Amino acid sequence: MDTEEFARSRKKLGKTQKEMAELLGIALKTVHSYEQGWRTIPSHIERQVYFLVCNHRGKHKSAVPCWEKKHCGMEQQCPAWEFQSGHLCWFICGTCCDCTQGCSLEDKMEKCRSCDILKDQLE
Ligand code: SF4
Ligand code: SF4
Repeated sequence: MDTEEFARSRKKLGKTQKEMAELLGIALKTVHSYEQGWRTIPSHIERQVYFLVCNHRGKHKSAVPCWEKKHCGMEQQCPAWEFQSGHLCWFICGTCCDCTQGCSLEDKMEKCRSCDILKDQLE
């Protein structure tokens, strides 16, 4: 996640920098640093921001679960299914998609960022 996307997501949520800091459990000056580009936004913060955007005001209720959208056939073995989180598969490590199995959080976020399951929910 880059500087612009972080600021855009905060605005989409209708939050001030102070409110965003509270939601993320970080200092206000850290939010400033992210938006000014002085600090890299770590994967665990990126994941939290996506979680907030995807679930804002019940938005997730209209999301199609990943196993339906991708017709993956792996759902019975996948933690996304176990936790009934088909719209949050990008949030859960250890999912069974070919591209993300066994990945670190950083690598997983890199791949999920370009997947339609996440992208469609961020629009
Ligand atoms: S995360 Fe991937 S493997 Fe798991 S249920 Fe969703 S589409 Fe299937
Ligand atoms: S690549 Fe990521 S977002 Fe896409 S289906 Fe797999 S876990 Fe979900």
